[in-house]
Amino acid sequence: MRFSNQVVIVTGAAGGIGLATARRFGAEGASVALVDQDAKALAAAAAQVRGDTLQVVCDVGDEGQVSAAVDRVMQRYRRLDVVVNNAGLMMFRPIEELDGAQWNKILRVDLLGAFYFVKQGFLHMRPGGAIVNVASVHALETEPNVAPYAAAKAALLSLTRSAAIEGIPKGIRVNAILPGAVDTPMLWNNPQVKSGTEHLGPSEVGKPAQVAAAIAFLASSDAAFIQGASLLVDGGRLCQ
Ligand code: NAD
Repeated sequence: MRFSNQVVIVTGAAGGIGLATARRFGAEGASVALVDQDAKALAAAAAQVRGDTLQVVCDVGDEGQVSAAVDRVMQRYRRLDVVVNNAGLMMFRPIEELDGAQWNKILRVDLLGAFYFVKQGFLHMRPGGAIVNVASVHALETEPNVAPYAAAKAALLSLTRSAAIEGIPKGIRVNAILPGAVDTPMLWNNPQVKSGTEHLGPSEVGKPAQVAAAIAFLASSDAAFIQGASLLVDGGRLCQ
């Protein structure tokens, strides 16, 4: 019960890694604010989380909505201990078919959404707070047709380091996690995986709960001396 009496925000909590993360924090005693833009899926997700939960419908790419979402959490709990920036969007398109609007669609969720919550975390957290940004192996090594996603995730690592430096005097830790392939809708909706162009053996696909365990570790006092780190959780994919 590492998170008893703590308040945790998980974005993109309606499914996949976000739901597994919300469940993990709930099981370890936290009050969990589940943030997602999908209201229906959010209600179903919250029902699977043990303990006290708050459902917050919010588009993480809209700064006003993020600010209002965190205000709701503060009004209800009067504290904020952990933020997990997990909401994410992927798009599959070759560079010559991409335009600026499509880049903006990805960057506003995968990069700016995390920035808005880091900012709110800095405004509301006390010393001891922790932020975990969910990046991807694509931040380090990528593949064809996902340029905006790979760029957003690489920039998220940079944001993590900037925020970690500014977090030190505030007593707030900021770290990133880099999952490899994980068994969620995002993976199986990948046309390159669907068509078999990108082949994944069973040992190369992780479970959402395995990523959630690593996120909970980085957010916990067990990781008190870890600041600005990027932790690969990919079953060894980038070692090969
Ligand atoms: P998913 O598609 O299953 O879930 C993403 C969640 O984010 C959904 O509930 C969706 O509604 C929510 N979301 C999307 N845009 C939003 C917005 N604008 N505002 C609020 N919520 C929004 O994906 P997942 O696989 O669980 O991915 C979670 C995170 O893990 C993402 O950041 C993703 O990039 C990262 N990741 C996933 C994999 C993988 O293989 N699944 C690998 C590496 C990194």
